[in-house]
Amino acid sequence: MPVTKEEILAKIVEQKVQFINLQFTDIVGIIKNVTIPVSQIHEALDHGVWFDGSSIEGFARIAESDMYLVPDLNTYAVIPWESTGDYITARFICDVYTPDDQPFAGDPRHVLKRTLAQAAELGFIYNTGPELEFFLFKPGPNGELIPLPHDAAGYFDVSTDYATHIRRQMVASLQTFGIKVEASHHEVAIGQHEIDFEYGDALTTADHTVTFRTVLKAIAQLNGLHATFMPKPIAGINGSGMHVHQSLSSIVTGRNEFHDHETNNLSLLAQHFTAGLLDHALGMTAVLAPLVNSYKRLVPGYEAPIYVSWGRTNRSALVRIPRISAGRSNQATRIELRCPDPSANPYLAFSVMLAAGLDGIKRKLMPPPSAEEDLYHVDPIARGLKTLPVSLGEALEELKRDSVIQEALGEHIYERYIEAKTQEWDAYRRHVSQWELDRYLPIY
Ligand code: GLU
Ligand code: MG
Ligand code: MG
Repeated sequence: MPVTKEEILAKIVEQKVQFINLQFTDIVGIIKNVTIPVSQIHEALDHGVWFDGSSIEGFARIAESDMYLVPDLNTYAVIPWESTGDYITARFICDVYTPDDQPFAGDPRHVLKRTLAQAAELGFIYNTGPELEFFLFKPGPNGELIPLPHDAAGYFDVSTDYATHIRRQMVASLQTFGIKVEASHHEVAIGQHEIDFEYGDALTTADHTVTFRTVLKAIAQLNGLHATFMPKPIAGINGSGMHVHQSLSSIVTGRNEFHDHETNNLSLLAQHFTAGLLDHALGMTAVLAPLVNSYKRLVPGYEAPIYVSWGRTNRSALVRIPRISAGRSNQATRIELRCPDPSANPYLAFSVMLAAGLDGIKRKLMPPPSAEEDLYHVDPIARGLKTLPVSLGEALEELKRDSVIQEALGEHIYERYIEAKTQEWDAYRRHVSQWELDRYLPIY
């Protein structure tokens, strides 16, 4: 049930809120924030709050810098760590509008809403369940930021896991934002963790993803640690993924349309959707794995995908179909895409994945035979497998060839995304690394 303005205003009074943070994200997924005193809240809810968007990454040219933030009432929450002293602060996630009351084409949240509307026209709600992995690092001797794992524990470890209480604080804080956590555990790598929250419609879970990143960073900081969603902070051990579980349900009946109720298996619709994901895998990688560093995660041997493939059990597949106990299969049938990482902008990531899946449905694409073997040890050419882009530069070239993914981003974001990411790639290409000096200087 959507909340009303009156309910929100009553809550603000009851919770003695004095400041309101109005949040939105830029195209690379960084949260931006404008704070207003509570006296401005009526004006903000009635007319939005003006801001100058010209300095926001990928937002606007100077000439068109006037923007309005319009709070989404459903995203109201008190920020616990900003409400401990004298001042209580709440937040809203906002939509960005132009002065003539049009959704701003450069607002990633709007981009996702637009793609969700296309699914709705076909009668579907798009559900996503992102699984974010992250590292907790200790500061260096002088307080500097270094990749120093907070513990030496591994997968599901208990005795050497020093972060159990920190994850508990994180879970408690996430729940105050209305994020229902399903499980949390230590991950495979030292200092690495995962907290999973309930799947839901893609707009809600995209909002939850940005909130999640903020909450975890804040709680880590309160414990003197640094939480990072950098995809591969340490070479030679697992990186951090953001696998995304996905399904389509019927707007009318709420039924999970990825489940075939007769065969008790994956529906034809889910197979078309999967084939669409595979067909656009190369074109959407630049959005799902957006950093130079993302491509250091997508290498053999660390449970991350490297080829365009699907399978039921193996963790090297790009799309995995999780096995589900018979009793739960109706609602729980879903597919898991494993290439995204937690540095991606979730609004844009969910938008391009949905567009890829819908394209598979429209063109009635069928996936190739599944690959059930460990793909880290096969010959891709003999096996007929396409390789995911191996660098941000290659991924950007693939994006330039994929009109479906470009349309999902919209012209405004597509152009600025390419511009921002090309600059990032060029800066990296020009850099001479320690690895090169160590390897080449003594010999050549
Ligand atoms: N950390 C792995 C990745 O980079 C995934 C491990 C898992 O399957 O949970 O995707
Ligand atoms: Mg995991
Ligand atoms: Mg997973």
